[in-house]
Amino acid sequence: MKWPWTQLQNLWRAQRWPTHCAICNSWGPDVLCETCVSTFAQPRLRCKHCALPVLTGQRICTDCQTDTPALDYCIASVSYDWPWPKVMVDFKFSAQPAWAKSLALLMRHTPGAELLLESCDVVVPIPVSGERLAERGFNQSVLLARHLAKDKMHTQWLQRLRHTEAQSHLPRQERLHNLDQAFALEPMARPSILGKRIVLIDDVMTTGTTLRQAAGLLRQAGAGSVSALVFARA
Ligand SMILES: [Zn+2]
Ligand SMILES: [Zn+2]
Repeated sequence: MKWPWTQLQNLWRAQRWPTHCAICNSWGPDVLCETCVSTFAQPRLRCKHCALPVLTGQRICTDCQTDTPALDYCIASVSYDWPWPKVMVDFKFSAQPAWAKSLALLMRHTPGAELLLESCDVVVPIPVSGERLAERGFNQSVLLARHLAKDKMHTQWLQRLRHTEAQSHLPRQERLHNLDQAFALEPMARPSILGKRIVLIDDVMTTGTTLRQAAGLLRQAGAGSVSALVFARA
């Protein structure tokens, strides 16, 4: 049998090999097909500080009205409801880092995301522990950040101090305590952080403790603003 050579060359050039949709399994050029994106990733009205869904006419949720929000802006592409937990598990644990491209594309197309990425100075992916990195071979947030704003990415500013239990497996109360002092700042980075408009990147935002803690450290070091762009919001 002869290879359809021209077709293969075109695919190679476009780097778009046919693949299965991660949700419905249909064949197509991307890991998320158009039908599934339009069905499961419709933008929702969300609180500008914490990305929780809000009612029409509301801009800020009641929690963020009561307490000082940790983030200037927080943008989430999807709610962490079916089918996204499965997709995120596949992305994290099944060693399919190529998915980052499709997920990052969805993040970029979320209302407000493009502007946030363009107007910031630095993009900081939420780090994972060395242990987790050894286990998976990659940090999913770094992969997303690389597709979102490679030139603005700093991976060394924020350091993970210790291995914390995977947040998604823990009840809410434990999740809140699980992150006590999980991060530190690279001491040499402090002068560079001063006045910078920073966007944190994470795959899943659950209680918000991770992002709150990271934002707190960056603010203490004099960051001009700290926002977040996440794929899924629980
Ligand atoms: Zn699909
Ligand atoms: Zn809020």
